[in-house]
Amino acid sequence: MAVTITDTCINCGACIDECPVEAIVDDEDNPTGEEIYYVYSDKCVECVSYHDTPACAEACPTEGCIVWGACDDGMTCSTDRGTQGEPVIED
Ligand code: SF4
Ligand code: SF4
Repeated sequence: MAVTITDTCINCGACIDECPVEAIVDDEDNPTGEEIYYVYSDKCVECVSYHDTPACAEACPTEGCIVWGACDDGMTCSTDRGTQGEPVIED
């Protein structure tokens, strides 16, 4: 499931242009209907081969807003990823 944006998202937009694979959409295009930004898990590669850490989480000003999802078969996942549900950037 790549990384996931949680409901603490404040729709600031800092993450969207940082994604190298255009996996992020804004609240208006969120397929779940929630008024927060959204990561398409089938597109997100956890920034592997682009950055050392997920660029969206580095850019996000909201502590703990972006968390690890599951790493399923066939997905590109970071080798040093954390546990599902835990913040990508720990303070
Ligand atoms: S981890 Fe990287 S590839 Fe995945 S949504 Fe964030 S910026 Fe995009
Ligand atoms: S940077 Fe964080 S708070 Fe801002 S839109 Fe992206 S996920 Fe939401």
